[in-house]
Amino acid sequence: MSKVFLYSVEKEEDTEKIAKKISEKTGKKFSEDDSVALKLHFGERRSDTHLKPEWVEPIYESLETDKKCLTDCTVLYKGDRAFADTHREVARDNGFDFGKIVIADGQDGREDINIPLENGKHFETVKIGEKIAEYDSMLAVTHFTGHVANGIGGALKNVGMGLGSKGGKLEMHNAFNLKVNRSRCTACGTCKVNCPEDAITVNGHAEIDHDVCVGCGKCISVCPEGAVKIPWGDSSAIGLQEKIAEYARGALKNKKTYFVTFLVNVTKDCDCTNRKQEKTIEDIGVLVSEDPVAIDQAAVDLVEEKGFDSRINYTEQIKHAEKLGMGQREYELVEM
Ligand code: SF4
Ligand code: SF4
Repeated sequence: MSKVFLYSVEKEEDTEKIAKKISEKTGKKFSEDDSVALKLHFGERRSDTHLKPEWVEPIYESLETDKKCLTDCTVLYKGDRAFADTHREVARDNGFDFGKIVIADGQDGREDINIPLENGKHFETVKIGEKIAEYDSMLAVTHFTGHVANGIGGALKNVGMGLGSKGGKLEMHNAFNLKVNRSRCTACGTCKVNCPEDAITVNGHAEIDHDVCVGCGKCISVCPEGAVKIPWGDSSAIGLQEKIAEYARGALKNKKTYFVTFLVNVTKDCDCTNRKQEKTIEDIGVLVSEDPVAIDQAAVDLVEEKGFDSRINYTEQIKHAEKLGMGQREYELVEM
């Protein structure tokens, strides 16, 4: 059974102190001969509930190797994080200026490597940001959130969706064919204004062009009528979750790995949301584990206890990752 260590926080201000304690563990996990990519989400310009740089810095500094970086890939939708140079600017402006920043899939997200999967259900190979191959170890530092399409953003999503190149992200998101419920749609145009890809026309009702849509899910979040629906009936949500798990498998393949997940400022939507959000549950603490399946399972068990309410059943990604041999859903929680 995998161990998951829980460092509780009573209030958000304690998190920095806890991060320093955790850095003793991460420092011991990796040696000076390892090359370590620390995968995180740097947050958006207007969000303020993403990981705080003062939480990540001691963990990054605990890595004794000279070859280390803070890493992420470009995103699919329009905005500053869609390109490497502006993504790095966002990261620095958000305070992540203490380490080397590597946007692993290059300036426009097209530099990737195909990593073969032995037992994938959806993919024989996955497209991972090319520069990840230069590192033999991965430390995934995750801010746990809800997510409009995937239900949760945990460790599996951080490395799976996060390290897919643009082409990889498209492959995962294409699980969706979003539909507009015409009887609910008031043709207000909010979805059209917010769509980063100009995939929506409004003419009596909204219509989504599936050839242009990248499946980012923004129209679902912004529609005041709840008229944009994910067609659950065709099991596309399960498909997305399984695809993310397969990408995570590829991104972590043949690497020494370790996982840290912050259950602090848990919000309804993920850190790609470019606005301020309120936390939905009281802060819990920080989890540390060698097992990405166990840490996600422990995270959902703990947030559910506090009343976290996802709009989506999110268990399929964790079950699929277990089937892929990435870890175990059964775990022992060790309170520190
Ligand atoms: S999911 Fe919605 S907002 Fe996102 S690209 Fe598709 S139509 Fe546009
Ligand atoms: S935001 Fe909703 S109600 Fe408004 S046009 Fe789009 S689908 Fe219709």
